[in-house]
Amino acid sequence: MTYEGGCLCGAVRYRIEGEPLSAGYCHCRMCQRAAGAPVVAWVAFPRADFRFVRGQPDRFRASARAVRRFCSQCGTALTFEYSGDTGTVDVTIASLDDPGAAEPMYQIWTSSRIPWLHLEGSGPAYEGDAPGTPRN
Ligand SMILES: [Zn+2]
Ligand SMILES: [Zn+2]
Repeated sequence: MTYEGGCLCGAVRYRIEGEPLSAGYCHCRMCQRAAGAPVVAWVAFPRADFRFVRGQPDRFRASARAVRRFCSQCGTALTFEYSGDTGTVDVTIASLDDPGAAEPMYQIWTSSRIPWLHLEGSGPAYEGDAPGTPRN
């Protein structure tokens, strides 16, 4: 499959040629602040299948173990990657041209879920990281 997406202003575009590994909602405070949104839906792909095809995003190291990339022109949150070589990249589902193409199947960091946000029927929920998949 080919997936394409990009930021709000169009300065940064990306393309993925491959299959998603997983998709889920993250309720952590860093995702909330980075996106200015109550929750962020992420889809993970093999790093080798992902590339930026237009523009260069800016990067922010939000914690010791991860880098977030975003458009320096319009601020759209685009990707999340671990500092270590996990071989994967997480992409914000809402930045895909077809956000319906990847559906979140779990929730992580529900310990910081905003109380008025309810996402029932979204699969298993974890108070912190899902087993084996830290995300902040
Ligand atoms: Zn932009
Ligand atoms: Zn998060």
